[in-house]
Amino acid sequence: MRLVVATHNPAKAREMAEVLRGRAPRLEVVTLAEYPGAPEPEEFGTTYEENAEIKVRSALAHTGEVCVADDAGLEIDALPGELGPLSKRFAGEETSFTEKAAMILDRMRGLPPAERRARFVCCVALQAPGEEPRAFRATCEGSIAQEPRGTGGFGYDPIFWLPSLGCTMAELTPAQKHEVSHRGKVLRELAVWLERARSNA
Ligand code: IMP
Repeated sequence: MRLVVATHNPAKAREMAEVLRGRAPRLEVVTLAEYPGAPEPEEFGTTYEENAEIKVRSALAHTGEVCVADDAGLEIDALPGELGPLSKRFAGEETSFTEKAAMILDRMRGLPPAERRARFVCCVALQAPGEEPRAFRATCEGSIAQEPRGTGGFGYDPIFWLPSLGCTMAELTPAQKHEVSHRGKVLRELAVWLERARSNA
């Protein structure tokens, strides 16, 4: 079966394809890069699930293949409602992640560890032609670091501290990130579901 990873973010596409290829080797995993002209739909939903569904419906309409799309975000307890599904738009889409991270760290300066709690959330929607989308969700708990560290991953990874590992998400190798990340977890769940659906077919 061919599965199209539907995202215009190359870092995300790479992560999603790596996890899916690792877990479901019989799947032919391709990305939207193979479908020139794929539209980038506006994410007007208010939840991760709604946005993932908007993206997967748009990709299926363009490719005609089974598609998978994600919507993710960073939730920071000390900044309620400011990021979450709006994480990409926090401080404006034109603002770099280095600047966004600096703004977050500034606003949180002096907060003790107990008030720095945060989590990454990832919702993935899967849709096959003629079917409705099916949603999966997972989270990765952590906190906001005192300062950015690491050069791996993307987005908010350099300021996302993993207390159990004693490093930020950006200090992990790709394989280590997939082990613990919101996206790795939800895609493994999806791969198990796909394998089961195929063996029941
Ligand atoms: P979207 O799902 O493409 O709308 O992404 C939401 C925002 O969360 C973007 O700004 C991403 O950079 C950020 N984000 C999503 N997943 C991750 C991650 O794994 N690490 C760091 N930032 C992420």
